[in-house]
Formats: sequence, structure tokens, C-alpha cells
Amino acid sequence: MATVYRCGLLIDGRGEEPLRNASIFVESGRVKEVLLAGSGVPEGVDVVDLSGCAVVPGLIDMHVHCDYWYSQPNVAEYLESDAMVACLAARNIRFSLERGITTLRDVSSGVGLQMRRAVQMGHLPGSRIFTAAKGICMTGGHGSSIIRGVREADGPEDVRKAVREQVKAGADLIKLLSSHRSETPEFRQEELDAGVDEAHRLGYRVACHAGIMPSSKMAVLAGVDTLEHGTHLTDEAREMMAKAGTYLIPTMIAYHSMAEATRRMLQQSDSGGDYRRTTLGKYADWWLKTDDMLESQFRKAAAMGLKIAAGTDIVIPEVEFAPLHTEMEMMVKFGYGELKTICAATRVASEALGKSQDLGTIEKGKIADFVAVEGSPLDDISNLRKVKMVVKDGRVEVPVPVPYYRWS
Ligand SMILES: [Zn+2]
Repeated sequence: MATVYRCGLLIDGRGEEPLRNASIFVESGRVKEVLLAGSGVPEGVDVVDLSGCAVVPGLIDMHVHCDYWYSQPNVAEYLESDAMVACLAARNIRFSLERGITTLRDVSSGVGLQMRRAVQMGHLPGSRIFTAAKGICMTGGHGSSIIRGVREADGPEDVRKAVREQVKAGADLIKLLSSHRSETPEFRQEELDAGVDEAHRLGYRVACHAGIMPSSKMAVLAGVDTLEHGTHLTDEAREMMAKAGTYLIPTMIAYHSMAEATRRMLQQSDSGGDYRRTTLGKYADWWLKTDDMLESQFRKAAAMGLKIAAGTDIVIPEVEFAPLHTEMEMMVKFGYGELKTICAATRVASEALGKSQDLGTIEKGKIADFVAVEGSPLDDISNLRKVKMVVKDGRVEVPVPVPYYRWS
């Protein structure tokens, strides 16, 4: 099975000048060759004409929770039923695929392992999933209230055990959570050290949730591979990250949309007094302060040359699952070039995943994941929203073929 996709503009994810009128020769799910303009089409292959489109590598969202249901209006139904949770996750991963996000890094969820398998088996159309299985936090720590999605662990040996449990369950990576919305770090240094050491010893990468300064620094010292959020970094911490090669996943859209919701709620309620007494409302000042810092924090990380990969995180009911396009638009608005931003959601993300041998760029030998869009995203990054075709594993996934069964 071989197909040639003729592209108007090919942005291959390596960060170089785009190619005009090149073609992607796909065979058995992989890129056999990128054919430059003017090369002949091999005989006996199907040709798909995308000459009116720009083509980029399949996007990678580095921070999702594929089944997050706490922001749904009917929480009780999800609380009662694992099937409801799985249905929500199935909807989410199909939705992300349709928008050109061919890969998700699921940094803790209750059904990530099952969703990964269901997509592999062809039971569900959906983005490819790499999952941390359950996240690991201290007893009562950030995320501990998330039923099914988190394992509480205390003390270095228990943290090691929790890591082993995720490996046993089939996780692709390990997720540690080490801060909440205050200045107090959660895991102690020796617990973080033990978690990272155990994961690395067994050959797994570590993503660490750290939104505040002390825990961010502790996570970098422990040697985590990706720092999730890192919203309150200092120059010293950024220098440590640059030196250690730690990836930053800023997830700005999560904080920005929470701040927007907070502003709305404060306006609506009795001078904000009522809202401030709710579970989320007591963090109102935290969201507002963090939102104010997003741009300067991002610009400093970029200026320092940190490795930045794009991710989104769970947000609020008004915001779609995996709002990666919005995150990328924020990156461009904050001075990151369009090409660099595309790389942050493709090649750099694949490197942070440890999967750059297969994913992240459109190059000979790689898995054939790409998205055709109308208009060049180099002129306007939001053109990535105008999806015309999504190819994953060398198969056209969007428009999604309607499954049809013949009964005999
Ligand atoms: Zn998260």
C-alpha cells in the first residue's frame, strides 16, 4: 500500500525553510521518501492532491488527562460509572485527532492505558496515546482527590513502589506531582530523588507537575525530564534547567483560562465574596497572579533558550479538550516565531517524549503522521485550525471514514 501526497507547502518540523510543491511518499504507515518538487511519482501508487494545502507533522499535545471529568456538569454520573469515564475519554481523543493532534501525552488518568489499547486495536478512532497511568503525589497532595487517576505515596521507598506499580500496569512514562497552589512544596527532595531514580533506572522518563518555585527547583535537582507548568521560575531555576536539559511544558492556556473564569466569577458574585469561599475561588488570587506572569515567564524561558514543548492540561468546561491551537497562538503572541512554535508541538515534543526516532517530523523512515491545513501557518498560526486532512500511521483519519458492517 503506497500513496503519494502532493503538498503545496511542506513544513517538515525540522525547523528549516518550508518546501514548495514537495510530496510525501508513504508506504506501510511510514514515510518512504520526501520527494522534492519536480520529482516523478513512482508507478502504481495512489496520489492524493494536497497542493492547495500546507502540511505539517501531526501535532503532539504534551499535557492532557484524557478522561478528566471533574469539570463536567454531571460529575455524579462519572463518579458512579467507569463506562461513562471511558466514553468521555473516547470522545476527547477522537476530538483531538480530528483537529490534527495525532499524539497525546496523557500525564495521568484513570483510563489512559485502556484508551491507548483501544486506539491501537482500531476499536476507537483517536490520537495515539503515551500515558503515565496514575500520577504519583504525596498523601493529600495535588491531584490526590482525583479518583482513579492518582496514587498517593509517602517516603522514598513507597514512591519507588508507586513507580513500579505504574511500570507494571504498562505506563509509558512516570508522572510525579509536587506542588499545589501555594508556596509549600509537597514531595520532599529525597522522595523526588527516589521517584526519578527508580523511573530512570527502569528506563522511563519523568514528568513532574511543579507550579511554584521551591518544588520546580527540587524537581530539576532530582533530574526530571519535563517540568510541567513551571509558572513561577526564577533566573536561577531557568539556568539550572538549561544546564540539565530539562524540557519546559508551560501549559499557559490552562492558567489563562482559569484566570478568565475567575475574573468572570468574581464579577458575578457578591463583590467576589461568595466565589472566594468556594473550593476553586479560594485560589482566585493565585490564578490572577499566575496569569499576569505568563508572558514574562514565557519570554524569559525562550530568551534563555530552554527546550519548550507545547502542552495544554485540563481546564474548565468552557474550553475544549486539548486546546493546543490556543496554546500555540499564545506562544506566537508572546514572541515565539511560528516555525519555532510548530516545532514545539512536533519535533521538540517528540524529543521530550523520547520518540523522535518515529515521530515529530516528516522525514524518511518516520511514522507517517501529518496534517494538511488551508493557508500557511507560517503566515498565521491559527491556520492550523483549518484542518483538511489528518493522516496517522499512514492512514487518512479525517475525514473519518464511517465504519460500515455488512451482515450476511
Ligand atoms: Zn495536568
